[in-house]
Amino acid sequence: MNPAARKTKIIVSLGPSSYDESVLKELLHLGTDLFRLNFSHGDYHTYRELIKSIRKLSPDMPIMADLKGTEIRTVCSETLHFRKDTHLSIVFQDPPDGEKEFALTGVDALHKLLVPGSLILIDDGNVELVAEKVTSQRASLRALTDGTIENAKSVHFPGLDIPFPLLTDKDKEDITFALDEGLDLIAASMIKSRDEIDAIRALVPDHVTIIAKIEHPLAAQNIDSIADSADMILVARGDLGVQMPLTSLPVIQKSIIAAARQKGKPVIVATQMLESMRQNPRATRAEVTDIATAIYESVDALMLTGETAAGRYPLEAVRTLHEVALNTEAHIDYSRIKDTIPVDKKNISDAISYASVEAALSLQAKAIICFTSSGATALRVTKFRPPAPIISFTPHSHVARKLSGAFGLTTITTSFFDNTDRMIEEARNILIRRGVACPGDIFVITAGMPMGVKGTTNMLKVIEI
Ligand code: PGA
Ligand code: MN
Repeated sequence: MNPAARKTKIIVSLGPSSYDESVLKELLHLGTDLFRLNFSHGDYHTYRELIKSIRKLSPDMPIMADLKGTEIRTVCSETLHFRKDTHLSIVFQDPPDGEKEFALTGVDALHKLLVPGSLILIDDGNVELVAEKVTSQRASLRALTDGTIENAKSVHFPGLDIPFPLLTDKDKEDITFALDEGLDLIAASMIKSRDEIDAIRALVPDHVTIIAKIEHPLAAQNIDSIADSADMILVARGDLGVQMPLTSLPVIQKSIIAAARQKGKPVIVATQMLESMRQNPRATRAEVTDIATAIYESVDALMLTGETAAGRYPLEAVRTLHEVALNTEAHIDYSRIKDTIPVDKKNISDAISYASVEAALSLQAKAIICFTSSGATALRVTKFRPPAPIISFTPHSHVARKLSGAFGLTTITTSFFDNTDRMIEEARNILIRRGVACPGDIFVITAGMPMGVKGTTNMLKVIEI
């Protein structure tokens, strides 16, 4: 065990490039903290087998079920190739026919929403079209660029408020599948407000961690209330970069991270972190700088998407992320970050967590130890980004999985002790056995007493080995 290593967590999306057991094994070996299954792709049989393979290699490995959410895609009978100013049509009723027509799945009654002048972006924004005339049968469009439209490509209507259900039937089925398979981290895609988070919360047991993917402009606008409701926030740059002007993405990324950090919610940045490594074994200068920028902004975790799911170099991508993170973290003065986060010093939990970070700093503690039964104490400490590693002890494996994506935390699952002295004794023994604690080392301990009562961080103690 080496809790002093990389603090920023790595999340790896699995796909055909990483299904092989030898690749999974290596991804674990390289220090992947959390796997993601994307329910926009894959089928239940494949995912069931994959989960089995992961559990065989690492029984407690956390796995995130990323729901598809509302998603509009093209339906074409053949690939359409066209030049700028070509006239094309979206057909609403008849199946598409020939080289100038396509249909859509995932949206109803679009003819009531589209108006002449509405923009249509296809294939992550690679193709741009504008609506010229809309009837109940078809929307006549003009291409603003040369382009190609294939079947099942993503479609976006920037600025159009399409009334989707809070949860699609597919999402409900996927949640049932995830829970049946024992997955307890669920990511909600394409949400616009906290209502979708609350709708999922109503369907799942209390211990499930819900991650809000911010990929729609309305979600970016509603970030504060979403961050109040969700357990974690994910900056999903793939869709955000299409739904909003691409050049505003850096500003939006920064403001979402800041909002999540102010609320003490772990935040993940994802997509195209190492896009060029889908094809090449070496990253670009811009990519490694982008990774470092997210780390300077103090994110909890970075997530690889296509690089590890469908790229040629999944292992090299994880290795690169790991090395950039280690290098960047070594040059950040973490002692200064705690004072950029609001502390409610009249709130006992906040005051104690902040004090544990201060004490660890002035005593040069080897680590901060958190006894946490809901995970709340550990999250409250990590939001202050202490330079010292944080080792959390919890009796619940679901809490260990919940904390896997949070900055700087190493979690040990141990049997439940409700007696403080025995808990401290047990932690001391484990840390000595694992070679973390040596004579003379100082550890700052924080916990909520009585154990098991959520949201009470009220104990601070310092021990010397
Ligand atoms: P996706 O989400 O891979 O599920 O689309 C990530 C993103 O949009 O950035
Ligand atoms: Mn997305």
